Amino acid sequence: MTFDDFQLHPDVADGVHGMGYTKPSPIQEQAIPAALAGKDLIACAQTGTGKTAAYLLPVLDFIAYERPAHTTALILCPTRELAKQIDEQVEGFGYHVGASSIAIYGGGKSENWEQQKRALTQGADIIIATPGRLIAHMQLGYVKLDQLDFLILDEADKMLDMGFSDDIIQIVNHLPTKRQTLLFSATMPNKIREFSKKILHEPEEIRLAVSKPAENINQQMYMVYDTMKLALLEHLIGELDVQSMILFTSRKMNVGPIERALRKKGLNVRGITSDRTQEEREQVMRDFKNKQFQILVATDVMSRGIDVSELSHVVNFDLPRDAEDYVHRIGRTARAGTSGMAITFVSDHDQDAVVKIEKLIERELEKKPTPEEIGPSPEFDPKKYRGRGASGPGGRGGKSSPFGGGGRSGSRPERPASSAPKPAIAVAEGAEAPAVAGETDEQKKRRKKRRRGPKPEGATSGGIEATASTTTESPAGEAAPSVDGSTDEAAKRRRKRGGRNRSGRGPKPEGSSVAAEATATSE
Ligand code: AMP
Repeated sequence: MTFDDFQLHPDVADGVHGMGYTKPSPIQEQAIPAALAGKDLIACAQTGTGKTAAYLLPVLDFIAYERPAHTTALILCPTRELAKQIDEQVEGFGYHVGASSIAIYGGGKSENWEQQKRALTQGADIIIATPGRLIAHMQLGYVKLDQLDFLILDEADKMLDMGFSDDIIQIVNHLPTKRQTLLFSATMPNKIREFSKKILHEPEEIRLAVSKPAENINQQMYMVYDTMKLALLEHLIGELDVQSMILFTSRKMNVGPIERALRKKGLNVRGITSDRTQEEREQVMRDFKNKQFQILVATDVMSRGIDVSELSHVVNFDLPRDAEDYVHRIGRTARAGTSGMAITFVSDHDQDAVVKIEKLIERELEKKPTPEEIGPSPEFDPKKYRGRGASGPGGRGGKSSPFGGGGRSGSRPERPASSAPKPAIAVAEGAEAPAVAGETDEQKKRRKKRRRGPKPEGATSGGIEATASTTTESPAGEAAPSVDGSTDEAAKRRRKRGGRNRSGRGPKPEGSSVAAEATATSE
């Protein structure tokens, strides 16, 4: 299969070509046709599998044909790093379409607030946002999402883990009910399924088998008490030839002490947490990619936004919450046939998570004890510790920090600074796109099929819904509209020209980046 098989709008196809993509990845093969057919989608796909293009290309195809004058798509994601990466991809894929995008993220009001406010007031085809920050803007009334065609949730599991569930529902309650919703998640726990019922309508489900870790990754597990992890890390690093390493920890408070300890050993190390400013984080990532320093210490929350591979070593200082995350993390090493090492520290309360990992990768891993000179080692007895660790019902149940913090605050996973208090959001009027003057029957059919049927069970009513419910729609589950054949090419182009005029935004000037213009946060 090639990207031509999707029969994307020529401007989108040019963007795909420009990005150097030739063969769709498995998630793209499955998700793109379903999304083009106007279906809601729940897709289980890890970071690094090509999920961004899987949802962006159908959105850009819609924009290329329809040229809407309103915001077409809202993409919600958990972290600013991911928001920025998505924004960059919109710029790449959407270059020939002239699609504009805004990335909305950040903590305090001072941080790009005015820039974002201006960009949101001006509007854009695609808004990419972290939920808390978007709500903070929405409550001031200038965010216009009343004619939205697509809602996309990227890394939905991560957003729920970070406590964004209520924020997302609050946002969804102010979107048109007739929209297409695409949910992507690296894992598919029950809470995602339950959550998806509230916002998706008869979704098509795509689940790709998690690929097994490459054979050439040397996976090592060490049984170690929390309080001895740092000593073990220093010991191991002393023995290893580290060229490029990422160390993941679930606790923000661990990052500084790990950095300092490794620096004392003469290692070139830097840390990244949500506490750093955006500029600082971007600088750290740039320097790491450019091999300016050897070891990056990152929190779980940061981990998914880090797009780096080709590492000699990955260290899981704590077990990741989901087994799939383990596979993804260690997959950053041993790329392109090189060998790599993944070292995982297993404390007494994280043993359940190891069982899940081994089940997923269909392989039992050797558990090495803590070297005697460092201290005693917990025994591997997962039954004894069931439900008490990273994968247990209470989340990360760590008892003590390796740096003495201990207790509740020491074991609390990182959560980004939440947004301002959330009063009711000003509701914009009018949910349904008006009939478009001069629209052809074919265009109307496609536009209508893109929009979905009645609001799903369980979703709360918002002010917008009352207006939206007065329009009749083709029921969801109807046969997918066929993608226009190439003989229709001239008609497509005519529609495109008409659309440009309707949009009022006009064609994109040669050589300029509309995305960059509208991106509130671009430097
Ligand atoms: P994603 O999962 O969307 O973050 O993509 C992970 C990486 O794979 C990114 O660097 C993409 O640019 C790249 N990628 C995604 N799909 C393809 C494809 N079909 N061909 C080549 N590279 C791709």
